[in-house]
Amino acid sequence: MIGMAIAVLATILGPRVAAAGIVWILVAMVVGASIGLYAARIVKMTQMPELVALMHSLVGLAAMLVGFANYIDPAAAAGLSGAERTIHELEIYVGILIGAVTFSGSIVAFGKLSGKIGGKPLLLPARHWINLLGLLVVIWFGRSFLHAGSVGDGMTALVVMTVIALLFGIHMVMAIGGADMPVVISMLNSYSGWAAAATGFMLSNDLLIVTGALVGSSGAILSYIMCNAMNRNFVSVIAGGFGTGGGTPTPKGGAAEPAGEVVAISAADTAELLREAKSVIIVPGYGMAVAQAQHTVFEITKHLRDKGVNVRFGIHPVAGRMPGHMNVLLAEAKVPYDIVMEMDELNEDFPDTDVAMVIGANDIVNPAAQEDPGSPIAGMPVLEVWRAKTSIVMKRSMASGYAGVDNPLFYKDNNRMLFGDAKKMLDEVLVALKA
Ligand code: NDP
Repeated sequence: MIGMAIAVLATILGPRVAAAGIVWILVAMVVGASIGLYAARIVKMTQMPELVALMHSLVGLAAMLVGFANYIDPAAAAGLSGAERTIHELEIYVGILIGAVTFSGSIVAFGKLSGKIGGKPLLLPARHWINLLGLLVVIWFGRSFLHAGSVGDGMTALVVMTVIALLFGIHMVMAIGGADMPVVISMLNSYSGWAAAATGFMLSNDLLIVTGALVGSSGAILSYIMCNAMNRNFVSVIAGGFGTGGGTPTPKGGAAEPAGEVVAISAADTAELLREAKSVIIVPGYGMAVAQAQHTVFEITKHLRDKGVNVRFGIHPVAGRMPGHMNVLLAEAKVPYDIVMEMDELNEDFPDTDVAMVIGANDIVNPAAQEDPGSPIAGMPVLEVWRAKTSIVMKRSMASGYAGVDNPLFYKDNNRMLFGDAKKMLDEVLVALKA
């Protein structure tokens, strides 16, 4: 942030900005900063991924606009000829291309994360061929762009390519199934970095190249880690269409066909089970974030630990709606780090656990990922809470989670459902525990 602040100041005060222009830049900065500050202040923690997706779209939009502005600015290419000119134009073309894909892809990701667009993958017939055709057309127009005699001629090719890139961004993210959205988010994060880096090349701005490459490569590494964590192949996720393999996806948030009997439990009985337990594993998910139940979770943890119960947390790599979402919430509630474990560290321990308490999690504890090869989340590693002596799932209804699939865990003999808002129910559990 300090580096960027210095860079922005140096640019504004540098020789390329006329004194009269400074006022405009300052006005734009104040307007932009106010909107950003306002958005970040009112956003709820659970809407954070949507906000991040929107921000990525702005990076893409900026890269696109800078590309067009650079192309029509006669001063930008003044003095360039031959190979230098070709490279400059190529930078414009590629910068706008990545920017446009990032822009439209991020808007669709925003729509999917906020529930405005359904999570089900949209699979057009022959979609790979459509993408390939788009790529060929983009290359073809790239050639005519580089050979254009005038800015007017080149503009046609640029506009055609931009429209295709925008459509490609929409198509790419629409084709990706709900459960694979974590990868898409980090991938778009990476794209926004590459778009910035391409803009840096176009403007011969070293700082933009460096920061863009930093974001681009860290986003790419994160996407790779998320893919590994979900047992997915990166290329297959990007090619889309996962989560359609004949399973029974239900509409997001909608209740699935009842697949058996569930046994409900009260807060008082939950407290009783916890009181008798020697070892407890808590598995938090998106619902804990929605309910903002992390502080009560901490209180309960503290109470149980004071009574000598071994309490640990099991964190799934894609729990919640952001990488690290649960870790942030638990840290905020001051849960000690040494009892917050990753999935792999304690999946083996469930058979020796008395109570596995699932707080507002669903997809990440779904046994269908292991048992049903046709499930949209088949192959995704999950926390095996059903292997504990008793599992208690805390949620408001029988509704499905983000991936929109039914969860057989709810119907297992050793599972109990504690229905209600996670914060409210945990408050009741805490009162009963202390009674
Ligand atoms: P899920 O979305 O699978 O399930 C969350 C559950 O919380 C819902 O079934 C809901 O049930 C319950 N819930 C919602 N509000 C409350 C509340 N106030 N009190 C109690 N329960 C509540 O979340 P998981 O964390 O299990 O899994 C994450 C999912 O999100 C995965 O599918 C993952 O792929 C996806 N994802 C993850 C991202 C990441 O980076 N981590 C990014 C994008 C998507 P009910 O309505 O009945 O209460």
